[in-house]
Amino acid sequence: MSTTKRCYYETLEVERSADDSTLKSAFRKLAMKWHPDRNPGDNTAEVRFKEINEAYEVLKDGDKRAAYDRYGHAAFEQGGFGGGGGPGFGAGFATSFSDIFEDLFGMAGQRGRGTGRERGADLRYNMEISLEDAFKGKTAQIEIPVSVTCESCSGSGAKAGTKPKTCSTCGGAGRVRQAQGFFTLERTCPSCQGRGQTIEDPCPSCTGSGRVTKERSLSVNIPQGVEDGTRIRLAGEGEAGVRGGPPGDLYIFLSVASHAIFQRDGADLHCRVPISMVTAALGGEFEVPTIDRGKSKVKVPSGTQTGRRFRIAGKGMPVLRSRQVGDMYVQVAVETPQNLTKKQQELLAEFEKTIVRCNPNPRRWVSSRK
Ligand SMILES: [Zn+2]
Ligand SMILES: [Zn+2]
Repeated sequence: MSTTKRCYYETLEVERSADDSTLKSAFRKLAMKWHPDRNPGDNTAEVRFKEINEAYEVLKDGDKRAAYDRYGHAAFEQGGFGGGGGPGFGAGFATSFSDIFEDLFGMAGQRGRGTGRERGADLRYNMEISLEDAFKGKTAQIEIPVSVTCESCSGSGAKAGTKPKTCSTCGGAGRVRQAQGFFTLERTCPSCQGRGQTIEDPCPSCTGSGRVTKERSLSVNIPQGVEDGTRIRLAGEGEAGVRGGPPGDLYIFLSVASHAIFQRDGADLHCRVPISMVTAALGGEFEVPTIDRGKSKVKVPSGTQTGRRFRIAGKGMPVLRSRQVGDMYVQVAVETPQNLTKKQQELLAEFEKTIVRCNPNPRRWVSSRK
């Protein structure tokens, strides 16, 4: 056995001088890669996984590592140095196996095997805000129904003064093995649903679930420049985890309501403003409301046609997480007067006789037909 065994340092793919943290991260990386759960049915992976474990068991322990450095694998064989305490595949392996689950899955916030710990669900909250709010940004107070850890039982689910008992079906492992022909299948324990514990006296506040529903008030900071569909993530504000697991996240999905005056195009704002026939013809000035609740003046040159756009720099929307600001575009529509008095009609008819050569479009239209 000792002659064919791979060097522990090679197994962990580290230098002989590697320090503890290097060892640990090398071990984690390899254990993740070769974990039997990630390589179902792959025997090589299982062997590699065991080798990695064994190597780490020895090298993480200062005394064992020193012995290994001096004597090699012989240090852990019968009759060798520290004979009885050898890591082997026996008890030592079993311990480190569960350690790894804690390490890799527990700490990574995943479902921890045998503990029933589970990360809480993510929550989605839809919020509609006005264009003005998107312009200024705001702090919104929201009420969300969330399930939180039950205070009466601190999330254990067991009545005060009692404790959950280790599940007798699976012995606390949360999983049971079942032989089926040549195969041994492992599945979630049916008695405890994988928690590894059973509750005899459930907590009355949460009926044993360990969680209760509460309205929670949260203030959400909505930054300037958010757009329709912007998602804000509030880490850890989702549902409480099950049995001490980490909480989920809360996602705020924003929609920006359509505005009476402005249409948004990225950071630019567009609006359409009616101007009188006379202003359009003679030129002039008019005021438009801006998104910052102010007003801007637009100068109209004489002879302005419907559809002409005027740009007001810097009066658009702020760009999310930047110092840029868009522009505002004002498009004019020349209005034809209605409900004219007799006098006005006469004046216009009189005027009409004088402007045959002044209207640009009819002139072009007539000439094109000649
Ligand atoms: Zn409770
Ligand atoms: Zn069980």
